[in-house]
Amino acid sequence: LARNPGEREFHQAVTEVFESLGPVLTRNPEYVDAAVLERLCEPERQIIFRVPWVDDAGQVRINRGFRVEFNSALGPYKGGLRFHPSVYLGIVKFLGFEQVFKNSLTGMPIGGGKGGSDFDPRGRSNGEVMRFCQSFMTELYRHIGEYTDVPAGDIGVGGREIGWLFGQYKRITNRYESGVITGKGISWGGSLVRTEATGYGTVLFAERMLATRGLSFDGMRVVVSGAGNVAIHAIEKAQALGAHVVACSDSLGYVVDEAGIDLEVLRQVREVERLPVEQYAARRSGAHYVPAARVWQVDAQVALPCATQNEIDETDAKRLVDAGLLALAEGANMPTTPEAVALLQDAGVLYAPGKAANAGGVATSALEMQQNASRDSWTFEHTEERLAAIMAGIHDNCAETAEEYGDPGNYVLGANIAGFTKVADAMLALGVV
Ligand code: NDP
Repeated sequence: LARNPGEREFHQAVTEVFESLGPVLTRNPEYVDAAVLERLCEPERQIIFRVPWVDDAGQVRINRGFRVEFNSALGPYKGGLRFHPSVYLGIVKFLGFEQVFKNSLTGMPIGGGKGGSDFDPRGRSNGEVMRFCQSFMTELYRHIGEYTDVPAGDIGVGGREIGWLFGQYKRITNRYESGVITGKGISWGGSLVRTEATGYGTVLFAERMLATRGLSFDGMRVVVSGAGNVAIHAIEKAQALGAHVVACSDSLGYVVDEAGIDLEVLRQVREVERLPVEQYAARRSGAHYVPAARVWQVDAQVALPCATQNEIDETDAKRLVDAGLLALAEGANMPTTPEAVALLQDAGVLYAPGKAANAGGVATSALEMQQNASRDSWTFEHTEERLAAIMAGIHDNCAETAEEYGDPGNYVLGANIAGFTKVADAMLALGVV
């Protein structure tokens, strides 16, 4: 704590993981001898840089850029870029730390890292966002590479921004190095299913978790938070499995549509016109909008938080449990506070932590890297099959590890121990580096 003052989210993420590791350290004292824990929470490299750009009015603006290269024991650093005004070092480090264990769980050869900026893309023109991306990459390019560090998208960074970032990388380096960034468009080195992968994967994980109690999404009442990339694709997959998705949200409020969210309308509002979800309610008769409130006011059997960190607190969790919540799977990173997680677990709710449930995105990014390396492109069906197999594998690995350590059904314990063990073994093998 004293070493990293003021990094609240980073402390929260480290505490959550380390609290699970007691039994594994008792069984494997060599991890303690080699100071694996101490090394794990110190990033290998942290880069902070100035991002100057000019807005449409000709005014010079300055933002702060970050890339935290956390751990490369399993492969090149891999993790997204977040553009959001709340971004500071503590957020980037929490995300990078989580990414190390998540990437380990995927079984793919990728280390963990994360980056971003406190730039707020909301309300900015295409030209402004492009100039910002170009300036950001003008520094970032010297730190990344197919074998070094491979960024992707996150909050505020979707296909449009990845295009401008990759375009500037290509221009500066004169290299068409497709494997340097993932989440690319299909015609320029992207992978089918990457856009859908995090949301789809979260629902596939939840479906397998529900099956352990003889349940499924079919007929379930589902509430999703967020209305971005992860939320939209979680809604799509849940509906495909027969769920009744009744609500979603953004940072300004939430919409309820008891007839079931109409994805076509939601996509038009969010993806095409880039408007707040309030506009969804304005266009759908029967739907209503609630401003400045959290979507967890709406009763659900399955909750899928897909917006941001710490968006479900103890009060929200209690309300959901009292209203009959059966399962919660995290599409977002660390959306549930530690107190809320404890409450859900004590109440017997099936709970899937983000590092396991939302790993489908980065896993499909690794599939994109495979396709780039072999100059190949796979079909949607083949890639989705791979995603489904990876999510089933992650689920079963977490469930079996929890059972092995005497706490069946505890996916937090299973994910943390399984993710940790693989990284720790690689760190031991690579020596004190
Ligand atoms: P998007 O930018 O596409 O969407 C984010 C959504 O969350 C928007 O609806 C946004 O609302 C809302 N949101 C953002 N910040 C806040 C906030 N502080 N309070 C309330 N709502 C907020 O991002 P993604 O869908 O890509 O990411 C969502 C979550 O999923 C993040 O936690 C991310 O780390 C995680 N994730 C994403 C992956 C990916 O592949 N994209 C992979 C793994 C995890 P508004 O539009 O009003 O800002």
